Amino acid sequence: MWPAHIVIVGGGTAGWLSAMMLTDLAKRRGHATRVTVIESSKIGVIGVGEGSTAVFRQMLRHFDLDETEFLRETGATIKLGIRHKDWRRVGYTYDGPIDDPHLVAGGAQLDRYAIAAGRPVAEAHLFQHLLDGNKGPYALKDGRPVPVGPFHYAFHFDQALVGQWLRRKARGIALIDDRVTGVELGDDGIRALTLESGQRVDGDFFLDCSGFRRRLISELGPRWISYSDVLPINRALPFWIDLKDGEEITPCTLAWAQKNGWMWGIPTQDRIGAGYVYSDRHISPDEAKREIEAALGHEVEPRGDIRIDAGRMERPWIGNCLAMGLASSFLEPLEATSIHGTVVQLIMFGEWLGTPEGRDRYNTAFARQVDDFRDFVRLHYVTERRDSAFWRDITASHPDFVTDRLALWQKKTPTRDDFPRFPPGLEHLGLAHVQEQLYVPVLDGLGLLNRDAARAEMAADPRARDHARKTHAALVAEYRRAASLALPHRAWLQSLRASS
Ligand SMILES: Cc1cc2nc3c(=O)[nH]c(=O)nc-3n(C[C@H](O)[C@H](O)[C@H](O)COP(=O)(O)OP(=O)(O)OC[C@H]3O[C@@H](n4cnc5c(N)ncnc54)[C@H](O)[C@@H]3O)c2cc1C
Repeated sequence: MWPAHIVIVGGGTAGWLSAMMLTDLAKRRGHATRVTVIESSKIGVIGVGEGSTAVFRQMLRHFDLDETEFLRETGATIKLGIRHKDWRRVGYTYDGPIDDPHLVAGGAQLDRYAIAAGRPVAEAHLFQHLLDGNKGPYALKDGRPVPVGPFHYAFHFDQALVGQWLRRKARGIALIDDRVTGVELGDDGIRALTLESGQRVDGDFFLDCSGFRRRLISELGPRWISYSDVLPINRALPFWIDLKDGEEITPCTLAWAQKNGWMWGIPTQDRIGAGYVYSDRHISPDEAKREIEAALGHEVEPRGDIRIDAGRMERPWIGNCLAMGLASSFLEPLEATSIHGTVVQLIMFGEWLGTPEGRDRYNTAFARQVDDFRDFVRLHYVTERRDSAFWRDITASHPDFVTDRLALWQKKTPTRDDFPRFPPGLEHLGLAHVQEQLYVPVLDGLGLLNRDAARAEMAADPRARDHARKTHAALVAEYRRAASLALPHRAWLQSLRASS
């Protein structure tokens, strides 16, 4: 049975996505479920310039929300990948395009072929060619924009604006602007909430989307699994950078490694959301500010000082309460896992809510998902950098979950089989997860793939090698041509605004 009344605390991206998805699902499945959102306009949301993954676009489509309107009204831009600058060593840059060419390759082993041939694996990605030319994913045909490829792209945005937009789009959801000041517990978790105004709100199920405050779940004695032993980044200094007139808007997130952490750069249509995430065990906030100003060549105005406790809830679903978004987990935003994780978690929750073992299944899948994000993010630190105590400390040893995989990939090229299916029991939904399609460009960029192993694999199967060679050549040629026709990213975004 679905609960009759779901109460969501928090009006950030997590809160509004939860409200929309659960209302929609209840309607589709014929459940008479009411949804109420409680948010406090006195408490802000996080909004630092966020990068999404492709699932966000798929979700807009699912809700039949107009993408052009989304881009126009939130000032969002297109994200085709992540540019990793100075990670492998200072002066070396590699990109992680987020499209997966294997989806259209007819079984051809594109990565294996490229590694064996000593060519960058990203060459067979359409998005790499678009990134190289600062192009958007559309070209003009008969005066109308048409997509240059079949792949879903992602967005960059300010989540504070996106939260407001989603709120405007949400239908059939009751909204209370007030602050939760008390939590009344019952036999199976939470019975009711009390608000600053004195109002009492009871419910059958509660979602804690209150961000780092974790206002509801913290009442239920959750256990926090810290990742600080393997991910030492624990502080963020966010700031804006002005976008200059005529400056191209790069369709990728910048992840620029610094001496004590790394800087994110997320372009929206009006400015760049940026910040320095660093380890405060290695530098103080003042030193971090000076370091990033020296790297950028100009002063920055910090918009806050955010503490990051990298990790996750052991069990985010306790009794009749589920922690979602920042309330449930967070790790440094290197691969934009947070909002992506929220969307996937909501889909899993919708599938398992009201089923006998739903809670345990959800908690197990959540743990696996966030641990997998941790493993992928930690891999980025297997680099040649030793130029500061931070880099010497983090490269001194790597956790087993990284070294075991790297050892495996010295013997073979990474393939889907190296990644257990996710989420267990819901594989048929085809939910996106961190697997070889994201790993391989990063491994390649860091110089961690074994060409000899790939050569041996290709030599053992001449037919597969022939198929891969031909398909690779055809795709690279097709993608070069498509990128040459694609519209410049900024000009295309401006045309959307002009056409409103
Ligand atoms: C430095 C940094 C960089 C990030 N970069 C990325 C990125 O690139 N990609 C990505 O996917 N994610 C990123 N994230 C995470 C992303 O911002 C969050 O996942 C997303 O914004 C969702 O946040 P939220 O809704 O969980 O919390 P918040 O945005 O913090 O919202 C919390 C809500 O709870 C409400 N609230 C709190 N307490 C109460 C109370 N007592 N009563 C009533 N209401 C209450 C507030 O009013 C607010 O509406 C980043 C986060 C940080 C910190």
